[in-house]
Amino acid sequence: MRIAEVATRMVKEAACQAFYQADRVGLAPRRRRLPVLCYHRVNPGGPDYLSYDQRLRVSPATFEAQLAYLKKRYTPISFADLVRWQRGESPLPRNPVVITFDDGYRDFFQHAHPLLRRMGIPATLFVVNSYIDSQPKPWWEEVALVFEKTREPALSLKDVGLGQGILAIGDSRAAACHAVINAMTAISQDARDEAVGRLATCLGVSLDASPPQPVFLSWQELATMAEVGLEVGLHGRSHALLDRVGPLQAEAEIGQGKAELEERLGRKVVAFACPVQVAPNATARDSLHRSGFAVVCTTPGLNRLPSLDLYDIHRLLVYEEPLPIFAARVAGLLFRPTHPTEGY
Ligand SMILES: [Zn+2]
Repeated sequence: MRIAEVATRMVKEAACQAFYQADRVGLAPRRRRLPVLCYHRVNPGGPDYLSYDQRLRVSPATFEAQLAYLKKRYTPISFADLVRWQRGESPLPRNPVVITFDDGYRDFFQHAHPLLRRMGIPATLFVVNSYIDSQPKPWWEEVALVFEKTREPALSLKDVGLGQGILAIGDSRAAACHAVINAMTAISQDARDEAVGRLATCLGVSLDASPPQPVFLSWQELATMAEVGLEVGLHGRSHALLDRVGPLQAEAEIGQGKAELEERLGRKVVAFACPVQVAPNATARDSLHRSGFAVVCTTPGLNRLPSLDLYDIHRLLVYEEPLPIFAARVAGLLFRPTHPTEGY
């Protein structure tokens, strides 16, 4: 790292620390924003959870500290509350925040939901219907596992069907892994499945047939949480990217997905989150309107109040990071550079 970068980082960290200290005693200024946080996984890490992609995981201790901070300085609300506010049926509380989770990982049931309940904090879980009660291994976790285990110094992209050039692995394991994950989000599911297999072969890692324990939730677990007040939203029927769908696929992902989820849960589903935080195309947008969704989460970012477009809600990805940095990001004072497809 160059001296200028180190200096910038130190200044940034000091500024975050100053903000956090002032915020703790209620002295930090606030802009009118609605932060919507996007979590994926909360677990202690390791092979039991098939949790190799560290961008997605927050430890239970960090999550608890983040919740305690949010509860003190913000008012967590649900999307249903937000809809009621926009219809003029109820006011918005001071410093509102929405806490969301994507994909329906089982560790939400094990680690996140008990904490949320104990602290009385509402949250929204966006599920993928086809993941529930099935045991697909998330392809991005398999890619991350391959990069964690490989001893190869480099990867020829041509050998895995991802273009040209040689990707160095050695000292930049995480960067190489994320470059491959980002390239793979842009190809079809069939091509991706094949590419994951080729990647494992090229890098000399064998992928086990089944994960050590279920990675995703069961319908039973989801129903149990919905019954005690968890807000469940849809994240697509099969997690297809909505910037490239035609009318039939859009209807299957959105309309049929909503009907299926509502029938399973016996309750209305009002919110949708676009997979990989990629904005929907016009066809998908049509489907979302026709299906009657009230809220659609699209791309990364913060939302300004009071001019809020419920069909274009931006979210902030949450990482395992120091509390002052988390606090500054939630307040909109610090932007972590995100790749356009950095999401899942
Ligand atoms: Zn996702």
